[in-house]
Amino acid sequence: MEAKLGEFDLIWRFFNAGSESMAQTQKNQVLLGIGDDCALLQPHATQSLAVTSDMLVEGRHFFAGANAEWLGHKALAVNLSDLAAMGAKPVGFTLALALPNANADWLAQFSQGLFRMAQQWQCPLIGGDTTQGPLTICITALGHVPGGDAIKRSGAKVGDDIWVSGTLGDARLALGALRSEWPLDHSSLETILHRMHEPEPRIALGMQLRGIASSALDVSDGLLGDLRHILKASQVNAEVLIDQLPTSRTLAAQTEQLRRQCAANGGDDYELCFTAPTSKRIALESLSTSLLPLTRIGSITSASNGAEPTLILRDASGNLLNAAETMRLMQSFDHFKSN
Ligand code: ADP
Ligand code: MG
Repeated sequence: MEAKLGEFDLIWRFFNAGSESMAQTQKNQVLLGIGDDCALLQPHATQSLAVTSDMLVEGRHFFAGANAEWLGHKALAVNLSDLAAMGAKPVGFTLALALPNANADWLAQFSQGLFRMAQQWQCPLIGGDTTQGPLTICITALGHVPGGDAIKRSGAKVGDDIWVSGTLGDARLALGALRSEWPLDHSSLETILHRMHEPEPRIALGMQLRGIASSALDVSDGLLGDLRHILKASQVNAEVLIDQLPTSRTLAAQTEQLRRQCAANGGDDYELCFTAPTSKRIALESLSTSLLPLTRIGSITSASNGAEPTLILRDASGNLLNAAETMRLMQSFDHFKSN
């Protein structure tokens, strides 16, 4: 029987090849096509345009009946997060919306959440499309990167540190509690729910990382799975200190197993994971104080020379995690393989 087709395999097999051959003929304008957080267009020699689309589907990305204001916020935030991952400054976005019915109250709340986020990052709505259908929100966001400074997934070098912003795992901890996968007291849930419903795109950080980070992405599907995208694109291997992953006090108070699981493979955090040469430690420590906490979580150890990259996990004492635990922590989200 043929192996189950995953989200990334299907993009690669059915969309990447076709687009690559066409992109070849447009080489001057298409700097980078499918496979990173954003595509990069270069309408002028001195600047590039980052382009990204993300879709939220009812029942898949959010529960039916979800708060419309949160949805407006999140739909734009997840796109801005991809711009942040490239070091891009938001320029504008389009909104394609399928609505089961035209409900003025719902739309008022949705647009409030959407425009609050748009205002915060000076990113205007410039067009879109509206149709009747199952609730689906699709945004395409555009961002600007001066010169050749966009931060790609493919730039990690042997010896680089691996860093992550903010804290990881709260969105997954909250989701699991809502789905009764594990118990969580009400006040703890209250303190972390905003991480799941109203993620903050790390735009300011992304722009500061231009010229500092060698590669970056935003953590949307789970840290270790997402880090593998960097390793693959950069053809390198890495080591991560699993107990060094930054977590909130709420997640730190859970069992070791749950803490590790949520931080290592929980989705929806929208923090930035990036690599940088060790010579940038002082600059990053100062950013960590002035802007947003940044934590060093591991390093790029060697080149993978075209082979499948390896990611080694160590615990707080420096011991290697066993294979079963490593496998468990590496399962990140895939729309066609995960449930
Ligand atoms: P992210 O999580 O950063 O938004 P994805 O995992 O959704 O990125 O997508 C990985 C890459 O595949 C991106 O470069 C994206 O633009 C591309 N991609 C995803 N779906 C399609 C599609 N249907 N057609 C073309 N490219 C796609
Ligand atoms: Mg991304």
